[in-house]
Amino acid sequence: MDLTGMKVRFDSAEFERQYHYDGPLGSFCNESGTQFFLWAPTAQDVVLRLYRDGYRGGAFKTERMTSIGEGVWCWETKDNLSGTYYDYLVTVHDVARETADPYARACGINGERSMVIDLKSTDPKGWEEDKAPAHGAEAIIYEVHVKDFSWDPASGVKPEWRGKFKAFTQENTTLNDKGHYPTCLNHMKKLGVTHVQLMPVYDYGSVDERDNGESYNWGYDPANYNVPEGTYSTDPYHGEVRVRELKEAIQSLHKNGFRVIMDVVYNHTFKLDSCLWKTVPWYFYRQDEGGAASNGSGCGNELATERSMCARYIIDSVLYWAEEYHMDGFRFDLMGMLDVDLMTRIRSACDARWGKGEKLLYGEPWSGGACHPRAGTELADKGHLRVLPPEVGAFCDTTRDMVKGSVMDANGRGMINGGGLYADALACCVKGWAFPNGAFQASSPAQTISYLSCHDDWTLWDKLILTVDEKRKRFQEPIQAVLDANKMGAALYFACMGRPFLLSGEEFARTKGGLRNSYNAPAKLNKLDWNRAFRFRSLVDYYEGLIGLRKQLPALCDKSAEAANRVLKAVQVTANLAYVEIDNTGGSSRWTKLILLFNATNELQKRNNLKGSWEVLVDSTSSKRWMKPELAGEKLEIPPMSALFLGLAKE
Ligand code: CA
Repeated sequence: MDLTGMKVRFDSAEFERQYHYDGPLGSFCNESGTQFFLWAPTAQDVVLRLYRDGYRGGAFKTERMTSIGEGVWCWETKDNLSGTYYDYLVTVHDVARETADPYARACGINGERSMVIDLKSTDPKGWEEDKAPAHGAEAIIYEVHVKDFSWDPASGVKPEWRGKFKAFTQENTTLNDKGHYPTCLNHMKKLGVTHVQLMPVYDYGSVDERDNGESYNWGYDPANYNVPEGTYSTDPYHGEVRVRELKEAIQSLHKNGFRVIMDVVYNHTFKLDSCLWKTVPWYFYRQDEGGAASNGSGCGNELATERSMCARYIIDSVLYWAEEYHMDGFRFDLMGMLDVDLMTRIRSACDARWGKGEKLLYGEPWSGGACHPRAGTELADKGHLRVLPPEVGAFCDTTRDMVKGSVMDANGRGMINGGGLYADALACCVKGWAFPNGAFQASSPAQTISYLSCHDDWTLWDKLILTVDEKRKRFQEPIQAVLDANKMGAALYFACMGRPFLLSGEEFARTKGGLRNSYNAPAKLNKLDWNRAFRFRSLVDYYEGLIGLRKQLPALCDKSAEAANRVLKAVQVTANLAYVEIDNTGGSSRWTKLILLFNATNELQKRNNLKGSWEVLVDSTSSKRWMKPELAGEKLEIPPMSALFLGLAKE
C-alpha cells in the first residue's frame, strides 16, 4: 500500500472497528506464569525473543506468537519470567523489524530490550503508605531537571547520587556540606514551592546510558514511554533499579511536602523509527498530504493522538505513571498537537480514579510547526482553551511576553524592561486572562499557568541582562537595575491569578551565560549553581516572601470562573505607573482588599496615602513586610522599577 493509502486506512472508522482493542498489552508475570500481548494488526508474523541480559548475548529462547484477534498477538508460559529481557521480531509487508515492546515497563540499558518485571518487587519500603501531601491554598510549581538539581559538587549531595534520582532522597543538604545554607530539597522547602515538575524522567534516547559523565539532554525525545530514564539511576544495566529509584525519589518528595508533576511528551518520539512505528508502521504517526511524516513537533515526527489505539496508548501511559509511581500531575509538552478529545478523556479518567481535580493537568497550548491530524480533529491549543475541561491548564505566553518581552527576540521588552507598563494589560495578566475576547482566553484562572521562565528560551536573568545591561552583558554580576527588574517581575506574576510556575534557579538569578537553547549543552552550564544561590540569597528571600504571601491571599488563589470580577479598579496613574485594586474577601485573610502598585519609571513616585488602615505587604526592599504588617505612612513612596503591595486590614 502506498503512503497516502496508509493514512486513509488508519484514519478510517472501519480500521478502528476491526482492530480497536481494550484488553491487556505488554508483559505480565506472577507465580502462575507470564503472558506477552502485542498489538500489531498489520503484522504477518511476530516472534518473541527472550534474553538473560539487557544488551549482551543472543536469545535463549524464541517463540512464535499467536494471533488472537483484534490485531493482538499473544504468547504465554507457566514460568515466572520476572527479570527476563525480551524483544519482538515483527514482520509487516515481508519486512522483519526488531523492536522493543511499546508497553514495556522496564528495560535494559538504552531501552533496546524490554524486561519482564514484577513491579511489586520494585516498591521501596513504606510505598503502600506513600501519599501526596494535602492540597494547600495554591499550587506553586517549580521546574527541575534531575541532573541539574544536584550535579554541582557544592550541592552537598553525595558524589554517587549527584545527577541521579537518589539526590531527591537526601535530606538536609547544605552548601558544600558546611551546614549553613540550604540546597536541593532543603532549599525548595524553605522557598515554599508546593509542586516539583520533573523534566522528562521517562526513558529518552539522546543520551547514551553507558556514559555516566557530562553527557546531557533535557530529554524531550521519548524512547520508552513507560520506563524511567536510565542515566538517572545508579545502575542503568539492571531494569528494576531505575524503577525503584524513581519511586524512592517520589516517596521522598512527598514526605518532604511536595507534589510531583511529570513532564510528558506524547507529541513525538526520539525518532520516527520507534518501537511504536516498528510494531505497526505509520499507525501511530500523522502523515502530511503527500504521505511523508508530518512534523508539527519540529522534531521530525508527530503522533496521531486522535487514532483510537494511539489515544488508548497515551491514556494508559498517563494512568500507569499516576497509579504505579504516584505522580500527582502531568505537564504535556506541545499539548497543542494533542487533541481536545484526548485531553478531555485524560481529565475524566484521572477524576474518576483519584477525585475531581486531584491530578494537576496542564501543557503548552501550541505546536512546533504545522500539524496534520485527521480531518475534523480539534487540537488542544490556545484557540480551544474554552472547549477543554476547566482543569486542563495551559502556559500563558501572553503574560510571559507582556512582562519581560518576546522569547523570540533578545531585544524584545515588556513591562519590567522598558517596554511600557499599562494598567489595562496589567489587569488582564492579574485576571489570568480568564475572560472572553482576550489574547489568551482561559475559562477560569485554573487554566492559566503564570510564569516568566521555564527551561525553554533565555532564563529570566539572561533575558533581563540582554535588555537592561545590554551593552556590557554582565551575566555573572548582581547588577542592581537587573535585580530590581527581576524582583518587580516576580512580584508581578505572583500577583496573577493563574497558577505560578518558575524554572528552578530563577530565584537566584540562574544564568546560562546568554545561551538561549541549552537542551544539549554540558551539565556544567545547565546545572543549578548552589554557590550562586548563596550569592543571590537576597533575591531568593524576595521570592520566598512572595510565595508565602501568595498562600495568604484568597483573591489570587481563587480559581473560579468569577475570579476576574475581583479586580475592582485598574488605573494608569501616570506613564509607566499602574494601580490595581482587588477584592480579597473570603477565607481567613487579614486583608479584605489589596492594592498593587507597579512603578516602571526611572523615578521615585510619591502618592498620598489612602483612607483606611492599609498595611504594607511588599515593597522594593522586602517581600516579607506582610509578616509584621505596619500601616502605610502618610506618603506612599514607590522607588523606580519596583512593586508596592498594600492590604486593607479587617476592621
Ligand atoms: Ca535512555
